[in-house]
Amino acid sequence: MELLLNGLDCAHCAEKIRCEVENLPEVERAEMNFMAKKLTVQPKGEVSEELFERVCKIVSEIEPDVSVTEYGKYPEKKEADEEEPDGKVMIIRIILSAVLAAAGIIFEHIVGNEIAALVLLLLAYLTAGYDVLWLAVKNLFRGKMLDEHFLMAVASAGAFAIGEYAEGAVVMLLYQIGEYFQDYAVEKSRKSIAGLMELRPDSASVKSADGKIQRVSPENVRVGDVIVVAPGERVPLDGVLLSADCSADTSALTGESVPRTFRRGEEVMSGVINQSAVMELEVSREYGQSTVARILEMVENASARKAPAESFITKFARFYTPCVVAAAVLLAVIPMIIDGGFSAERLYPALSFLVVSCPCALVISVPLSYFGGIGGASKNGILIKGGSVIDALCKADTVVFDKTGTLTEGVFEVTEIVPAENADRILTLCAKAERFSTHPAALSVKRKAEERFGDILSEDISSEELSGMGVKADIDGKTVLAGNKRLMDKFGVVCENPEKAGTVIHLSEGGKYLGYILISDRIKPRSAEAVKRLKQFNMKTVMLTGDREAAAREIGEKAGIDKVYSGLMPDQKASILEELQKDAKGVIFAGDGINDAPVLMAADAGFAMGGIGSDAAIEAADAVIMDDDPMKIAYAMDISAKTGRIVKQNIVFALAVKLAVLILAAVRIANMWAAVFADVGVSMLAVLNAMRAGRYKPNQ
Ligand code: ADP
Ligand code: MG
Repeated sequence: MELLLNGLDCAHCAEKIRCEVENLPEVERAEMNFMAKKLTVQPKGEVSEELFERVCKIVSEIEPDVSVTEYGKYPEKKEADEEEPDGKVMIIRIILSAVLAAAGIIFEHIVGNEIAALVLLLLAYLTAGYDVLWLAVKNLFRGKMLDEHFLMAVASAGAFAIGEYAEGAVVMLLYQIGEYFQDYAVEKSRKSIAGLMELRPDSASVKSADGKIQRVSPENVRVGDVIVVAPGERVPLDGVLLSADCSADTSALTGESVPRTFRRGEEVMSGVINQSAVMELEVSREYGQSTVARILEMVENASARKAPAESFITKFARFYTPCVVAAAVLLAVIPMIIDGGFSAERLYPALSFLVVSCPCALVISVPLSYFGGIGGASKNGILIKGGSVIDALCKADTVVFDKTGTLTEGVFEVTEIVPAENADRILTLCAKAERFSTHPAALSVKRKAEERFGDILSEDISSEELSGMGVKADIDGKTVLAGNKRLMDKFGVVCENPEKAGTVIHLSEGGKYLGYILISDRIKPRSAEAVKRLKQFNMKTVMLTGDREAAAREIGEKAGIDKVYSGLMPDQKASILEELQKDAKGVIFAGDGINDAPVLMAADAGFAMGGIGSDAAIEAADAVIMDDDPMKIAYAMDISAKTGRIVKQNIVFALAVKLAVLILAAVRIANMWAAVFADVGVSMLAVLNAMRAGRYKPNQ
């Protein structure tokens, strides 16, 4: 059961809701995604109307302003409009209350009219806090004494009771300012993600066989349908380009604002904006599987994988409030027991304690920081799956690259066929054998064969791909092998690797060696620079490849990699990674994901490159780099380091100030003014600091 909690803006309350829902007897597990306002409930049995009602009841008890609806497809847009007036009312209340409070203080201290002062301050107090007081009363009847509204009401009403009217009014006023500010910050960072939500298409124009164009919801478009995309429009679904070559703005996906050219027959990803004439696309994936849907899903779920710091804070918050309240009670009661005297004076420090008893600043600033970091990364074309990934990146000191498609373009060119007198036959046979392979090496051979001989791949063959080695095919009754030396060795075909740079595809037919095709791959333009940047973070760099040593060494040297492992099978890659993990604090792996899924999983943080292509990679990876740029790994490191610093600063700073205020209040150096100023001030600074995490501009 997935529920949308509209108007949820207190992280601490969100956690309370989650806890209570999970404690329901019929609930197996409950998960809260605060940034997406999404509560996922896994019931022990069936989802029932009754359960829904009970969850709603819990929500309305803890957060009466929050409305619960089923988590639908288009929640963000509508709701943003609804929330606007609420904010305006709050600002008016705050200003009015501030004016009244100022007038009250003037009457108290300058004019010296006690009665007028009391009336004005009381008005200021009620203007700012009538809703808080109302909630406090309700909570009192429900026996929820540790609720922040209740504590705030007790603290401020207590101040009035002991004759400190100005304190009472100002405590409430500042508390509301702090709350308002937090809501604003949460809403703002949600909106930055909502910017991504703009990617979500509202409709697609489907062209039917008779040429009529109809606007339909993207979910209703099927694979094989033809859609048209007008110039300036966003492509709603992934599809193969049927019309002429065109250019499109891919910045929403990659963070790069350079337009990209798509050729006829190439797949265009959803989310890009058409920049030339009308495009016609044959839809290749349903909406749920499309690039945009997958990105949105990742972003929405980004706050689900919690970092230890986030869990620490929610746990801490759970015992912080009771402890401070208990201390406040002791502080008030003990002196009275000792000498039996009751005086308003003695209640004062206890009230100050109540003022700082809310852990909200801390609770909100930590997830907000992580979310900022995740948002900042997504603006740069890096999708990070959660706070825990940011933590892993902060700790990592080793980065491991796959070669093909990660450091290199993964687009091979056939450079030589040996022996030359048999070249045509070798190329033809190899292309046929590779018919069903999607390995970059196979694609290059097929491309070359097509250039030379046109379409030769129509006849049906049976073939089998041997991961990390090549292919074995049955052509005209003979076994054809195409792959590296390891493959030849495996089947007892004698061959020798040439002393040349580049990747070699050996070819044999019926056990007889025919020759080889030499193909070469280019290193990506920014690989060397990316490696250099990562080394500046004191990272050890390693490259793993299934390719032979000569090819590996060449690329390794060009990129400036510290250590190169070559000739590896996919499972060996995983075991080398585990070996590296033993003496590293954390290992990052970046691969293209064609056969790297196990390694991506094993790494502390796995980056899938060019993730818009391969599905397996998106599943297995912790972060997806939307384009193929290895430099983005360095950006992700930068963003993570910055986010990690901000989280630490916020925790240390907020705890230190709270502790200082508690001590100073206990020994009566700090009065309630100081306490509330410090508390609200810390909240604001922490939240502002958290928002800094989202601003990242790489210096190219
Ligand atoms: P990497 O991605 O590091 O190059 P792979 O495991 O994908 O590693 O492949 C390892 C090696 O196996 C390749 O370099 C290539 O020599 C060979 N190989 C794999 N698949 C094929 C194929 N379909 N055709 C020819 N050679 C292949
Ligand atoms: Mg590979």
